[in-house]
Amino acid sequence: MCQQEKDVLGQLGIVVHEIGHALGFYHEQSRPERDDHVYINTDNILGNYRSNFDIVHAIENYSVAYDLSSVMHYRSKAFSAKGNTTIATKNLRYQSVPGQRDGLSHRDILANMIYGCTDTWLKNCNRSSEICQNEGFTGRDCKCVCRSGTSSPNCAKVTFDYYNNLLQEYTEVVTNGTVITSPNYPSEYERSK
Ligand SMILES: [Zn+2]
Repeated sequence: MCQQEKDVLGQLGIVVHEIGHALGFYHEQSRPERDDHVYINTDNILGNYRSNFDIVHAIENYSVAYDLSSVMHYRSKAFSAKGNTTIATKNLRYQSVPGQRDGLSHRDILANMIYGCTDTWLKNCNRSSEICQNEGFTGRDCKCVCRSGTSSPNCAKVTFDYYNNLLQEYTEVVTNGTVITSPNYPSEYERSK
């Protein structure tokens, strides 16, 4: 369990996150390959809390991809000394994603399934291996549980990428010279729900 996590997570997220710790899960940003996905701005972290951002080499990831939207991932300003970003995503489009507060992400559930249930459920469904694609997995009713942006029957059709529905509404890739303004500038843009 970690200290003062109320400050760095949303309301429902707090409960799920702390249950995650109770079940033995580490922080997502402690995964050994996290530097491929985020920059940790150590200088911006409150002095006593820098160790919360340490890499833990013993983490078992069950071959589930790193997940900025995991309920076990800190938000971008977690334990900030002066309100500056402590966790910056390497892909700038994803800066709004870390520390989402809506409970378990698809990959959180996928890791749990692989850890505990998939083998049994595959067997009950007379499947020798997983037929669901693109991070989908076989559910209790033998249907594929697909991530958002992919669709049934086997999650084979990909409509949008994993983080798409967590991006700020105005996130765009600009390919031509243009003038852009951020709503609420120069204050921080608040995502509307
Ligand atoms: Zn925690």
